[in-house]
Amino acid sequence: MRRPLIAGNWKMNQDNREAIELARQLKVKLAGLDGVDLLVCPPATALASVCEILGGSAVAVGAQNLHDRRSGAFTGEISGAMIRSTGADWVLIGHSERRQFFGDDEDWIARKLLAAFECEIHPVLCIGETLAEREAGQLETVLRRQLLQPLENLGEDQLAKIIVAYEPVWAIGTGVVATPQQAQDAHALVRGLFASRAGQAAADRLRILYGGSVKPDNAGELLSCPDIDGALVGGASLDAASFQGIAAAATN
Ligand code: PEP
Repeated sequence: MRRPLIAGNWKMNQDNREAIELARQLKVKLAGLDGVDLLVCPPATALASVCEILGGSAVAVGAQNLHDRRSGAFTGEISGAMIRSTGADWVLIGHSERRQFFGDDEDWIARKLLAAFECEIHPVLCIGETLAEREAGQLETVLRRQLLQPLENLGEDQLAKIIVAYEPVWAIGTGVVATPQQAQDAHALVRGLFASRAGQAAADRLRILYGGSVKPDNAGELLSCPDIDGALVGGASLDAASFQGIAAAATN
């Protein structure tokens, strides 16, 4: 009953020319895939070009981050309104690389979520534990904090629109993928935590994506887990055939 979503995070890869080429390939390769929602998140410099190519296709376009203010003296940042002006209407919020390298904490992430909703941008809230946290038995504590604190000020309508990506930090870009059982257990935990905030009905509708070294050859097994509703794909989203392979696995 939850339609799968396969999202690509291109990170700080693809200059404008390369992004245009990748978007053109994706447009062809992903055409005609039924039963799955598709999203790509290019770097901000390529948003407008990629939107131009994918406009009218089934592939949505999102940014990888936004600032919580609409405009002002925030050198190097981009606002939700600016993202919308490119044609993109999705955004990743709280990616672990933002948390690790750019100081995104729960307070800021909460403000970014509100800013996204104000601009009618669909947010994908990324959460996940480090290996040290997992090994110290802190999985639930970390996921509770990262998920529930940013949701505190959201209304029912906003809670109904949010998408969560569970991305264990130890599996991102490492080639180490969580086992289907580890991923399923964490997703069930996230759904339970969300239910404690938004109610069981909303939790049953919540789409929770898995992220961390997803490839065409491991996607099928992960996506067949009952609480895994899609994937957030980094490295493999930079290759149109690989991204198509993962998207195809979601239609089975
Ligand atoms: C990511 O950046 O969100 C990610 C999951 O990366 P990768 O697929 O390369 O592990």
